[in-house]
Amino acid sequence: MSVRRYGNDRMPVVIMNRQTILNPTLSTTARLLYAVLAASLDEDLDLDHVARLAGLNDAEEIRPFIAELETVGIVDLKDHEGRGEIITVREMPLVPEQRSHPCIPCEDCGECSCEYIKGLCRACCTIRDERARAHADIARWKQQLDAGATYAIGSGGTRLHRWDCPTLSSPEARLLALEAQVPHAEGGYMHWSKLPMLYTAEELRAKGTRKKHCATCGPDPL
Ligand SMILES: [Zn+2]
Ligand SMILES: [Zn+2]
Ligand SMILES: [Zn+2]
Repeated sequence: MSVRRYGNDRMPVVIMNRQTILNPTLSTTARLLYAVLAASLDEDLDLDHVARLAGLNDAEEIRPFIAELETVGIVDLKDHEGRGEIITVREMPLVPEQRSHPCIPCEDCGECSCEYIKGLCRACCTIRDERARAHADIARWKQQLDAGATYAIGSGGTRLHRWDCPTLSSPEARLLALEAQVPHAEGGYMHWSKLPMLYTAEELRAKGTRKKHCATCGPDPL
């Protein structure tokens, strides 16, 4: 079982809900447990440790007190798709009508999406965004090519290439590289590398470009 904050900010201070700490209907242990849980979020304390700080013997003993805190909507313990049991700790209590929802699995991967956009987890959101960026960029590149732009300026901006120069990676190769990054999307490490801008000979003449011509593809002289 793990513990998480609703939201992601790491802070050197603890913010907790006043009404919960001052609620006389909650047991002393439940209120102390809430304070310790809130304080433990950025510290990676295991639940046995948290339980002991709240005067209990081990993690199993916290369940009835979690149940007490659930009645006021400040903490909840749920089974989340693909992640198991998680205690979610809030700074503000949920109002009763928000409390009963079960775990909402991600539309794309089926794992829990409760701590991000409900219905789409953080990783899948990154994957969707980068794929959309890729498709828009490929569409732009194809449109330029269809319009007769057959010269490319590489990412370094130093050389002039033919659009299909083997030293420039193709849309297909870039898509494969993008898909290979899918396992790293969780950490946000997924990035579409943009295709080069394409130009027609007229555009380059108008720009008065004096770039060196790539020796590999040998673009037509301007
Ligand atoms: Zn969930
Ligand atoms: Zn997902
Ligand atoms: Zn080239």
